[in-house]
Amino acid sequence: ATPTSIMVGTGRAAELGVLFRKGEALQTLRDVSVVALDKTGTLTEGRPELTDLEPAEGFEYDMVLQLVASVETRSEHPIAEAIVAAAKARGLAVPSPTAFEATPGLGVSARVGEHDVRIGADRFMSKLGHDVSAFADKAGQLGAKGRTPLYAAIDGRLAAVIAVADPIKGTTPEAIRALHDLGLRVAMITGDNQATADAVARMLEIDEVVAEVLPDGKVDALNRLRSDGRKIAFVGDGINDAPALAAADVGLAIGTGTDVAIESADAVLMSGDLRGVVNAIALSQATIRNIR
Ligand code: ADP
Ligand code: MG
Repeated sequence: ATPTSIMVGTGRAAELGVLFRKGEALQTLRDVSVVALDKTGTLTEGRPELTDLEPAEGFEYDMVLQLVASVETRSEHPIAEAIVAAAKARGLAVPSPTAFEATPGLGVSARVGEHDVRIGADRFMSKLGHDVSAFADKAGQLGAKGRTPLYAAIDGRLAAVIAVADPIKGTTPEAIRALHDLGLRVAMITGDNQATADAVARMLEIDEVVAEVLPDGKVDALNRLRSDGRKIAFVGDGINDAPALAAADVGLAIGTGTDVAIESADAVLMSGDLRGVVNAIALSQATIRNIR
């Protein structure tokens, strides 16, 4: 491609809401055959809400919510915001915890007054030695609805199963259909649990899912998706996504995402609307066709 056609192409992309930080990325995008997307904040709004809290025998709803919300006041995860907001909406006080500890991709722990409180994924509970099988059916039902099941442990006992749901962006289904129409495969990479990821993928007709990926595992997941030499674009918004944005053949960051994601990307979507990805790929195909 000539420098002029690339300039025209990137100018046109900017009008469509996609800022290319590197001109070559517009060319590379033409050869992409897989688009992998982060789930939370990319396919979804990234603003989950608490939908379920089922206390175990001997525990009580408000007590559990209050204790886990106190722990979550120290976390910046969107799940934490959902839980704190739910506690406040019920008028519960959420005192600051002590000895807070986050285990990335798994969960959080702290002391609240006299209590030892932990909250996170089933894998987190297993690591702590808690048997979650009593809640397996419930968690399965929650996951099948696309909700994220979490567990709380209080003073060494499993205290509740909790769920949050993150709405899918209104423009996402159309964007995925359009990617399919362009002949691309669509994949999702997420730290969320397998059942939830599978349910969301089914709703959106996503072709491939890599779930339960730890924060430092996204590049490996990406490389698995392109193992047969397919060129891959990755779309993400979070701090965790930065290495995958840099490692992808083309990295596209959500403009409303974190600074480090934007700095690691080849192009930035001005809004969170994934139809920008479709426009950029279509434009790339048209631009290169014109100059060959
Ligand atoms: P994603 O960005 O895809 O949600 P993360 O790596 O941030 O992936 O989180 C993966 C999982 O770890 C979450 O689905 C949740 O089960 C658990 N987790 C992480 N942080 C928290 C938190 N603050 N509170 C409860 N669970 C958490
Ligand atoms: Mg995200």
